[in-house]
Amino acid sequence: MPGRLADKVVIVTGGSRGIGRAIVERFAAEGATVWFSWFRHEDAAREVEAAVPGATGFRCDGRDREAVDKAVEAVLARDGRVDVLVCNAGVAANGLFAMMPAEDVDRVLDANVKGTIHWARAVFRPMLGRRSGSIVTVASVAGLFGLAGQVAYSASKGAILAFTRGLAAEAGGKGVRVNSLVPGFIDTDMTATIPSPVRRNYKDRIVLGRFGRPDEVAAAALFLASDESSYVTGQSLVVDGGLSGTVI
Ligand code: NAP
Repeated sequence: MPGRLADKVVIVTGGSRGIGRAIVERFAAEGATVWFSWFRHEDAAREVEAAVPGATGFRCDGRDREAVDKAVEAVLARDGRVDVLVCNAGVAANGLFAMMPAEDVDRVLDANVKGTIHWARAVFRPMLGRRSGSIVTVASVAGLFGLAGQVAYSASKGAILAFTRGLAAEAGGKGVRVNSLVPGFIDTDMTATIPSPVRRNYKDRIVLGRFGRPDEVAAAALFLASDESSYVTGQSLVVDGGLSGTVI
């Protein structure tokens, strides 16, 4: 049986680790040709390539607009189109705003907001030209509610949510869908350094009683990327074990 992304050409940013890696694995298993970017961890990227047939990594800092444009041109030259873009690459900076170095604020906004916009911008016209495409941005519950110690990160994710809705409004009539994934707390390197007492406190507020797994986010990404969500655009799909929708 053909996979749910059979014959699709996909770019996943930040596919070397965590949620991005799980998306690369799932999309390739569903028949997609997957191109994924990485930035600092070449070893991890090579490991993904070795483990996932149909997946190819390339180094590209999402903050660098020219590098992003070139990467998209290379995929277009090779495969002729980009059917799906998942803007997953992101960084966090932990710490109270009063103490946070300005460089950390810039780093988070540049990687998360500009990175997302550069990638979406690079694939958008080619997708419009074919009147077909799905762009999936990766936000966070931190963009939905206030989270102490994550002010810059929350600002970046709130911006991604607003960007996604705006782009969806421009793209819908031209056959391109744009949606956000909104993960809660997922077990990856990004959350590995959360101290145990803080972790327990968060877990107590999650209806399902645990952090999520990257493959659980990848399953939601697959829905938004594939034609199964053909009537869904401008939406935020929250994958947080019930954290944001309930009071417990
Ligand atoms: P992660 O394990 O830290 O992995 C981050 C990925 O992004 C890596 O592949 C990294 O590549 C890449 N990356 C970072 N900066 C980059 C840049 N400037 N250019 C290109 N690639 C870059 O993080 P994660 O937990 O999987 O998070 C993935 C996404 O989900 C992020 O947008 C994050 O904000 C979001 N999210 C995560 C959680 C969570 O609980 N984990 C919750 C909500 C939202 P290299 O390693 O090669 O540098």
